[in-house]
Amino acid sequence: ATPAEEKDLVIIGGGVAGYVAAIKAGQEGLKVACIEKRGALGGTCLNVGCIPSKSLLNNSHLYHQILHDTKNRGIEVGDVKLNLEQMMKAKETSVNGLTKGIEFLFKKNNVEYFKGTGAFADEHTVAVNLAEGGETSVRGKNIIIATGSESTPFPGLTIDEKKVITSTGAIALKEVPKKMVVIGGGIIGLEMGSVWSRLGSEVTVVEFLGQIGGPGMDAEISKNIQKTLGKQGMKFKLNTKVTSGDDSGETVKLEVEAAKGGKAETLDADVVLVAIGRRPYTQGLGLENIGLETDNRGRLVIDSEYRTKIPHIRVIGDCTFGPMLAHKAEEEAVAAIEFITKNYGHVNYNAIPSVMYTHPEVAWVGQNEAELKEQGVKYKVGTFPFSANSRAKTNLDTDGLVKFLADAETDRILGIHIVGPNAGEMIAEGTLALEYGASTEDVGRTSHAHPTLAEAFKEAAMATYGKAIHY
Ligand code: FAD
Ligand code: NAD
Repeated sequence: ATPAEEKDLVIIGGGVAGYVAAIKAGQEGLKVACIEKRGALGGTCLNVGCIPSKSLLNNSHLYHQILHDTKNRGIEVGDVKLNLEQMMKAKETSVNGLTKGIEFLFKKNNVEYFKGTGAFADEHTVAVNLAEGGETSVRGKNIIIATGSESTPFPGLTIDEKKVITSTGAIALKEVPKKMVVIGGGIIGLEMGSVWSRLGSEVTVVEFLGQIGGPGMDAEISKNIQKTLGKQGMKFKLNTKVTSGDDSGETVKLEVEAAKGGKAETLDADVVLVAIGRRPYTQGLGLENIGLETDNRGRLVIDSEYRTKIPHIRVIGDCTFGPMLAHKAEEEAVAAIEFITKNYGHVNYNAIPSVMYTHPEVAWVGQNEAELKEQGVKYKVGTFPFSANSRAKTNLDTDGLVKFLADAETDRILGIHIVGPNAGEMIAEGTLALEYGASTEDVGRTSHAHPTLAEAFKEAAMATYGKAIHY
């Protein structure tokens, strides 16, 4: 066999974590290779996650709005029809454009791209099972593992991505199911549940906990969005667990009961979406060949510089600690390269925003009320409803509120929680404020253009240290 080529850095996985690390490494002048097995770059996020789901969320929202929310605006439309095939094509156009764009950026930044599956042969060598057939190997002075995550399966249900689906099936259904049951009322459940509900499915979300939205969402915000999604037609069964499922028939039958024990009930669905979380993916990586282990949740263990116990092997993104978010993976990628080239790097894990792209959107950064209470922090709260914001009123889109949590004594911002139109864009200002250690008064005394939704942000800040003007 030919001796393996030597690189400064080999990256296993070409998802957001891996491809950003590769581009950054190229920019820093490192000789870098990136190995990706799926045939396209961008990982879960670009291929089957963030991007396709947002395409469907955007277009299903438009469809739903044209159906239900035009007359009062003075727009009379004729026959409105769904062309699901075309909606899926529009999604694929966005996905393909973006994944090809990364291939272009790889070339521009001198990243060598191996299409295939990587596995450790030894601590410096990665064997690559090439997609086109055959094998090769590549040696790295440094190696980054960025192999991402996969959907957590539900015991007793077999995923066929048609009748029992994960998010991957939910972005590719060929027809609108009459009845859909979603197991898990977290971000995926609510985003994909919204898509199919808007397109005409009867959607019921079964959630084990007493609130929807998954980890981190503030309880008040969760209640607020649940009410709005309810008005849009989604049904919720909270504090409810699925005890067993039967997918052998035409439809899927789920036995559910109150989480704390209680009356059992059978739910019948044409399609069941399993959305109970994701778990790190490290299968077939050959970790046993180098003596690396995962923790009890499948995560690769690292120190504050992303190093495993083998210091030249680092781990970033979904397959290690922290929230499973694309922008978190991206921050870690840049920091990990900086640790390699400059010996420093930094990610502020307290200032990573979360966004749920329902309508209205939900977005937050920093801590929520329950977390502050648990830590015994004395805090104050300021809120401002979009129903009192001029732009939201002109847009006839007034559901939701902005909520600030600040230190009771110093006024320093501790958390910002928004449910409302464009919350996902608005949270960028909140994240910057948190990152800069701003007080609510800093925000409240900053001029915000009129009439904008962002004025609700300013006024919620004003309501925290003093009084809002318009409410
Ligand atoms: P991944 O994107 O999973 O990439 C890992 C890559 O490694 C994969 O392409 C895989 O094929 C490859 N790989 C694995 N093993 C090997 C191997 N041995 N050899 C070669 N290649 C290998 N996050 C957000 O921030 N915003 C969103 O709106 C959002 N929406 C989402 C919607 C859905 C439906 C889902 C499922 C996720 C969403 N996420 C979102 C989460 C986001 O997709 C992940 O946090 C992000 O993709 C993590 O990036 P990663 O690079 O760590 O892992
Ligand atoms: P999640 O952790 O957000 O939510 C899972 C939900 O399922 C939780 O509310 C949990 O209580 C519930 N649950 C768990 N087991 C259950 C059971 N047996 N029965 C009923 N309910 C149960 O996970 P997810 O929605 O699957 O998303 C996975 C990951 O993908 C998350 O880390 C999320 O951040 C990421 N993601 C992010 C975005 C975004 O940023 N917009 C979009 C999609 C996915």
